[in-house]
Amino acid sequence: MTPDEFRQAGHELIDWIADYRADLEQRPVRASVKPGDVRSQFSRTPPESPRNPEDLLRELEQIIVPGITQVQHPMHYGWFPSNASLASTLGDIASSGLGTLGISWESCPALTEVEEVVCDWMRQLMGLSGQWEGCIQDTASTACLTALLIARERTSDYSESRGGLQAEDRPLLVYTTEEAHSSVVKAALLAGFGRDNLRLVSMDPGTRAMSVRALADQIESDLADSAVPCAVVASIGSTGVTAFDPLAEIARITAAHAIWLHVDAAMAGSAMLLPEYRHLWEGVEVADSIAWNPHKWMGTILDCSLFYVRDVQHLVRVMSTNPSYLRSSVDNEVKQYRDWGVPLGRRFRALKLWYHLSIDGIESIRDRLRRDLDNAQWFASQVSQSEHWRVLAPVHLQTVCIRHEPPGLTAEALDHHTLAWVNTINQSGDAFMSPSQLDGYWMVRVSIGVEATTRNHVENLWKLIQRNASDQLILAEKN
Ligand SMILES: *Cc1c(COP(=O)(O)O)cnc(C)c1O
Repeated sequence: MTPDEFRQAGHELIDWIADYRADLEQRPVRASVKPGDVRSQFSRTPPESPRNPEDLLRELEQIIVPGITQVQHPMHYGWFPSNASLASTLGDIASSGLGTLGISWESCPALTEVEEVVCDWMRQLMGLSGQWEGCIQDTASTACLTALLIARERTSDYSESRGGLQAEDRPLLVYTTEEAHSSVVKAALLAGFGRDNLRLVSMDPGTRAMSVRALADQIESDLADSAVPCAVVASIGSTGVTAFDPLAEIARITAAHAIWLHVDAAMAGSAMLLPEYRHLWEGVEVADSIAWNPHKWMGTILDCSLFYVRDVQHLVRVMSTNPSYLRSSVDNEVKQYRDWGVPLGRRFRALKLWYHLSIDGIESIRDRLRRDLDNAQWFASQVSQSEHWRVLAPVHLQTVCIRHEPPGLTAEALDHHTLAWVNTINQSGDAFMSPSQLDGYWMVRVSIGVEATTRNHVENLWKLIQRNASDQLILAEKN
């Protein structure tokens, strides 16, 4: 493809994307395909002769789009918001178009330095002090893995340069709660700690926040057993019920025992752009590492996860390799982001943050976050004021966990009812929510915060939910 052919096909693609985004609301929210439906529309063998971009555009429309669950749809309330603002999409396109290679400062000085700039802008926008330095990772999962690797190396005094964890005579321990994201458990296992050395600390039953008392007791008893407490992963806005572990109190304990404190704020980090919400992570300045995803609620298109540490020297010592073909005469003056995580090659991800912050502007982003927080409070108050409806966890941010509990329905019958109404709505394509288990029973998470979702959409959702829940009761009686 020549640049001129690219120009023409590119204009058509951009037009198609703009129409697609403009008309998204007309489409069903949930992908309407069965397993294998998309795959079976592709030839089993690779294309032998070149095809036209127009054909591919048609197939995007006919084959790909039906296989997409529309997380940019205003009636999408599932999982967490995964906004892909158009301003950041432009930055992402610019990144692809430039075709840069980030493997060292020298391979693309601008890539490194814009990443430094935007990470520092984001630090300031979240009210973090100048002791933090950050980089962009693909996801919070990778950031958590990186955090646990550097925690392991700090506690073990760089065991990687000897026999690794395999040669340690006492086990290193990681502490988190059952409410933590599955990526935390995965990171602990992949970093070599082993499941036996992962402590799920008990939680306050009402808020599902880590019990500081239980953490302190667990650490005491582990120390008495000659084990070595290594890291605590605190959830700042958990995935299930948006629980906030009490960071300031946890930080006092981790500081006293030289335990690494990693803050997983993947979702709730966006709320820290709002000064009035920063009390929710009070104590964060004493942590050792923080990860959060602009690619969720804030809306910088996937993948864009920010990872901050206070001790860059330590991070780099653990992560660096210095092969001769990557050395240059300016190494002492520049950052080498390959030494800040696992991958060598990196994309120019900083461009999407630059575009997003510059074109949309932080004040409009903040206004939108506040709109969503208001909508969530409105929705929660409607639910809790309605007979036989319950809000099951404190609504700290924009996710509301609800259940319809009609008299006489308990245990399995109640589970059946919950899944019946939510699945009926999800299958209809009118809206999408995530059913999820809480203390062994099904509930429904309504996560508000898609860029296109207005109060009107949330009002419609509440009508839809009430209608479907009562229809299910009538149906059940008939049977
Ligand atoms: C979404 C989420 C993650 C995982 O994020 P990825 O970037 O998809 O790896 C981790 N922790 C929490 C609290 C999350 O909400």
